[in-house]
Amino acid sequence: MTISFDLDDTIIPGTKRFPTERQNLIQRGFGLEKIREGTVQLLKDLKSEGHQILVYTTSYRSASYIRWLFFSYGIWLDGIINQRRHELILLTDGKLYSKYPPAFGIDVHIDDSIGVEMEGQRFGFKTIIVAENDMQWQDTVRDSLIALSIQT
Ligand SMILES: [Mg+2]
Repeated sequence: MTISFDLDDTIIPGTKRFPTERQNLIQRGFGLEKIREGTVQLLKDLKSEGHQILVYTTSYRSASYIRWLFFSYGIWLDGIINQRRHELILLTDGKLYSKYPPAFGIDVHIDDSIGVEMEGQRFGFKTIIVAENDMQWQDTVRDSLIALSIQT
C-alpha cells in the first residue's frame, strides 16, 4: 500500500505533546525537529514489508528539509507532499479540502485531525486517526492497516 503520514501533531509535536525519539548530536546540531517515539521502527517495518511511505503535510516545510529529517533516522521517504505541492497539483480544487490523498496515489493517510477524517468520509479516502495520548500508536496504525487491507 501507499501510506502517507501527516507531520504536525501526528509525527512532530506542536500543540499536541507526546514522547519523541532520541536525537543524535547531528540532529541536535542542525536543529532538526523531534519526531514521535516509535516512528523510526514503524516506518522501517512498513518499508521492509514493501509499503511506500510518504509525508503529506499542510505546512510549507521544504521537501528537502523533510527528506533530510527522516533520512537522518535512516528512513528514505518515497514522496513528500507539502502545501506548495498540494496547491500545485490540485489547483483550485486544492481549496476544497485540506488534504486529498487520492490525487497522489495514496491508499491511506495517517493524521491526528478529526477534520481530515471527516473530509475522508465526505470525499472518499481512507484515514487512520492517531490520538495524542495513544502510547501504542504504532499498534493502532498497524491494526488499522490490517483492517483496511482486509476490507479492500
Ligand atoms: Mg496534524
